Amino acid sequence: MKAWIIDRVCDLTKESQPLKQVDLPKPSAKAGELLIKVNACGVCHTEIDEIEGRTPPLVYPVIPGHQVVGIVDQAHGTQTGIKPGDRVGVAWIYSACGVCEYCLSGQENLCPDFRATGRDADGGYAEYMVVPEHFAYPIPDVFTDVEAAPLLCAGAIGYRSVDLAGMSNGKRIGLTGFGASAHLVLKLIRYRYPQSEVFVFARSPVEREFALELGAKWVGDTMDDPPALLDCIIDTTPVWLPVVRALECLKPGGRLVINAIRKESVDNQFLANIDFARHLWMEKEIKSVANVTSHDVRAFIRIAAEIPFKPEVEIYAFENANQAILDIKQRKIKGAKVLVL
Ligand SMILES: [Zn+2]
Ligand SMILES: [Zn+2]
Repeated sequence: MKAWIIDRVCDLTKESQPLKQVDLPKPSAKAGELLIKVNACGVCHTEIDEIEGRTPPLVYPVIPGHQVVGIVDQAHGTQTGIKPGDRVGVAWIYSACGVCEYCLSGQENLCPDFRATGRDADGGYAEYMVVPEHFAYPIPDVFTDVEAAPLLCAGAIGYRSVDLAGMSNGKRIGLTGFGASAHLVLKLIRYRYPQSEVFVFARSPVEREFALELGAKWVGDTMDDPPALLDCIIDTTPVWLPVVRALECLKPGGRLVINAIRKESVDNQFLANIDFARHLWMEKEIKSVANVTSHDVRAFIRIAAEIPFKPEVEIYAFENANQAILDIKQRKIKGAKVLVL
């Protein structure tokens, strides 16, 4: 089968072919696993973090890709009722131990044996992939393959971020950064919390315009002052200035949720500017979002189908995976990027 692999750490400002295309034997499913013929796979900023070594694969090479939609080709000894011919999705959570304190309390995202699709196990930049059946999700008919793919990462983690932000209807929420996750979050907030005003901080005028189209109350650049202090802010940027800035824009008791698997170090000098009185005093909180649970993925797919919620997508041919990665690195972002096979 055709597949793209990550086989080394590389610097995306210098290299234009970070992924290598290879021909691998078609994998097969063991008991409790599904073999999926991949139709579409989303491209995520996390692939950049893997390639540049901030969250490197356990072993090289690995097939990246954790927003996978495809058709079940083999199902062996399965208990979920998923069968060959069914359309399913695979998300960032590939497996967790199922027996630790975190798994038993519904926090399998924090499991010490958490394995990530496309980093700790082969993912969806390939014609086929294998996944444990409990971490595959039936995809409702209302979505095409490319519409469903971004829901599986950006959507699911966006859902988790909004939950962790402590949102309720009427609270003022900020979004700093406006990529694939944030645009789904804005739509999710407009649906679940119709009385809430959304304030979007984004560097690019194109992203700001897009946020207004989707119903943001206010848009501005990272350093612009919003017209009111905010109850909560979700940060989806890869850097630090927006974090420090967001803390200044929170109300007393406000919470900043950082939705980024790793931060780049290019601007970490801004952290030295954190002033306790200005940024943290008055019970302001900072919380990170780590991974997703299978519950987050299922819950988000259900809500997304209810709305129904069609993400803005940009389609790339499978052969153009390297171009999609470079376009994300260079922040050429309008909606979510999806490879089609
Ligand atoms: Zn992702
Ligand atoms: Zn566990």
